[in-house]
Amino acid sequence: MRIGVRCALAALLLSSCTSVDTEPDSDARPIALTGAVLLDGTGSVSIEDAVVVVDAGRIACAGRRDACGVPGEADVVDVSGHWIIPGLVDAHVHFSQTGWVDGRPDAVDLRDLHPYEQVQARLKSQPDRYLRAYLCSGVTSVFDVGGYPWTWTLPERGESDPLSPRIGVAGPLLSTIDFWLNLPAESQFVYMVDEETVRGAVRYHAAQGTDAIKLWYIMPPQPPDTARVAGLVRVAAEEARDAGLPLIVHATGLWEAKDAIRAGAAVLVHSVFDDQVDDEFLALAREGDVIYTPTIAVMEGYGDVYLRQPIDSRYPLDCVDPATRSFDRPDAVPEDRMPPFASDPAVAERQRARVENALANVKKIFDAGIAVAMGTDAGNPGTFHGPSVYREMELLQEAGMSPVDVLVASSRVSARALGREVEIGTLEAGKRADLVVLTQDPTLDVRNAAAVAWVMKDGVLHERRTLLPLETAGG
Ligand SMILES: [Zn+2]
Repeated sequence: MRIGVRCALAALLLSSCTSVDTEPDSDARPIALTGAVLLDGTGSVSIEDAVVVVDAGRIACAGRRDACGVPGEADVVDVSGHWIIPGLVDAHVHFSQTGWVDGRPDAVDLRDLHPYEQVQARLKSQPDRYLRAYLCSGVTSVFDVGGYPWTWTLPERGESDPLSPRIGVAGPLLSTIDFWLNLPAESQFVYMVDEETVRGAVRYHAAQGTDAIKLWYIMPPQPPDTARVAGLVRVAAEEARDAGLPLIVHATGLWEAKDAIRAGAAVLVHSVFDDQVDDEFLALAREGDVIYTPTIAVMEGYGDVYLRQPIDSRYPLDCVDPATRSFDRPDAVPEDRMPPFASDPAVAERQRARVENALANVKKIFDAGIAVAMGTDAGNPGTFHGPSVYREMELLQEAGMSPVDVLVASSRVSARALGREVEIGTLEAGKRADLVVLTQDPTLDVRNAAAVAWVMKDGVLHERRTLLPLETAGG
């Protein structure tokens, strides 16, 4: 392989490099990145004039120049004046969704223009554009926490393809409500109708080699059968525990979130946004060693689509493929097809209140010592795969986390949410060499995490320019 690195080195000299990599090669020479400021993802102080040595796809050494010798045979890349951070990890994405309403006809129904079965067939056959957008954005690992069964094929792709992030997958979601958005012959939502169904679904997922069990915990409005629903959530948790699988729960209500923790949830995705979290919630989350993935940007994303606001004012879209990017225009949804509530000021106001609750809760939860991860819910309308991480990180900063805390949330803690903290998430000897080289200081403002110059996954170094969508990659 090494084409990537040679390409990268050539690019430094020639400013022209468009070739891409093939696969990691353990025979390749080590690479040493020298002179940058290193943030290793552990939260400890940054190291000036650092050296990161990468050998056979792993970090051999990352630290001060006098502590990390540069092997004589190494390819040296001088990255002075830059910052090195661990590869970002988005702990909440959906490859069964496009980033727009064609993948969510429950939001805006345009199935006559964009037949859902065709949208899904395309997602399955052409995930490449999204994989590339992640890498281009400095995201080297993602967790797909709910989708059609084909998504279970993605982890293999993530391990073998240098142009793909590594991928964890939860498979079809178990849902407490009977949600209709399925294909005629495939389900992404498994309705938890009774105990037998729940046990069967978890066992089926386990047999498929799933990385987690994802559960939509939404209390059906009628009939008020709280005890029955809560009981089924416990059945799912028990089966997941028996199978050695983490339970990831979508719970946006405070009551449901607490109940999910009591049942044994390992990860909560989405904020509690109907209320401010209370001491009981904090105590439960701490005791349960829960990881909280706030997932705030997605709420704005829906609002942007409904109110025809430009998504590119939230985060840069140059890593996004042109077809997806073309949805970011005011007339993407025909005027007469927008649902009436889309422009209802009362709905927008309610949404704003939810975002405010979500932001306040992040601060309370983080200050209480509970692990906070970063996840975007990318694939939902207005939340594009890849660069939406920048907006989510910005919102965590806005909530009151420091830039360094946000970086740790977006690497080490998210790696934990993915169950891969032994391998990724920090830049320490022995870990996979997944990192990002930035041109701006992310400790001053976490928005500088968007200033990506280079991305390394598994020891393969890519100049960002070579990761832009193929249709727009410059020479
Ligand atoms: Zn989601």
